Amino acid sequence: VKRSGKNRYELYDAQMSQEMREEMMLKQALHHALDKREFVLHYQPQICGRTRRIIGYEALIRWQQPEFGLLSPHFFIRLAEESGMITQLGEWVLNEACRQLKVWQLRYKRPDLNISVNLSARQFVDETLSEKIFGALEASNLSPENLVVEITETMVLQDFDRSIETLKQLRDKGVKVHLDDFGVGFSSLSYLSRLPVDAIKIDRSFINKIDAGENDVAIVSAIIAMAQSLRLQIIAEGVEREAHIRYLSQKGCYDYQGYYFSKPQPAECVSL
Ligand code: C2E
Ligand code: CA
Ligand code: CA
Ligand code: CA
Repeated sequence: VKRSGKNRYELYDAQMSQEMREEMMLKQALHHALDKREFVLHYQPQICGRTRRIIGYEALIRWQQPEFGLLSPHFFIRLAEESGMITQLGEWVLNEACRQLKVWQLRYKRPDLNISVNLSARQFVDETLSEKIFGALEASNLSPENLVVEITETMVLQDFDRSIETLKQLRDKGVKVHLDDFGVGFSSLSYLSRLPVDAIKIDRSFINKIDAGENDVAIVSAIIAMAQSLRLQIIAEGVEREAHIRYLSQKGCYDYQGYYFSKPQPAECVSL
């Protein structure tokens, strides 16, 4: 809900208050949702285009809300951040994702499988974040090398020096760091080269543009070239069509995530 300007607010007053009531309800319900075990993780595979093998999964949270049904993170992550509840929620995600990956590694005899977990800005500034991450790894008996944390540029920019410290701590133990939504922020070569990350994920909005005109496509190939020069792994998200794969592989990007391969699915539906 955007409350931009007085007039707009008045104009949409009735509709606003409806939305605001819903938001308040959700915010209330959010407090108990963790205890009531209403959150679930869905998993979307990441594929290596060269081998066509699954290299790992991204864990994406959903809220099975009794009244509203299965809610996408767009409806509640911001609320959870505002209330501070994201700290506990994020810890649950880490533990659950690590636990699930271990199950798959053993079941499918794939000790190399990775799990990617999204961090929120609020979690990222928590002083005890690395302890929590190492705790989740220990509890699930997962190697740090198989855990990927996804962060965004905006999270890093809030306190660049401290962020670098946190990322170094994680990487020292072997945890991988991926820079999510790459290209939508303030990415510049000079600052990317100072960031301790292992990979960048090209944002979906750029992959979409592969179908479109020359100029937009040039951005994708520039991003890939930039990542290559920094020796970073490149993952394309939102890969939906054969044409995307053709273009990306021609430019040297071979790791893909998107509906072309699979939508995010509940754990029960995942099979290798
Ligand atoms: P994200 O990290 O950029 O995740 C990728 C989003 O793109 C997911 O949306 C995924 O379902 C969607 N997607 C993947 N492939 C395709 C495709 O080919 N086409 C299209 N149209 N969409 C695709 P989702 O699951 O709704 O998640 C939205 C955002 O919510 C995520 O964006 C992430 O920022 C946030 N999020 C999800 N789970 C968590 C979590 O556990 N913690 C935190 N802090 N944020 C989370
Ligand atoms: Ca992500
Ligand atoms: Ca992303
Ligand atoms: Ca995104």
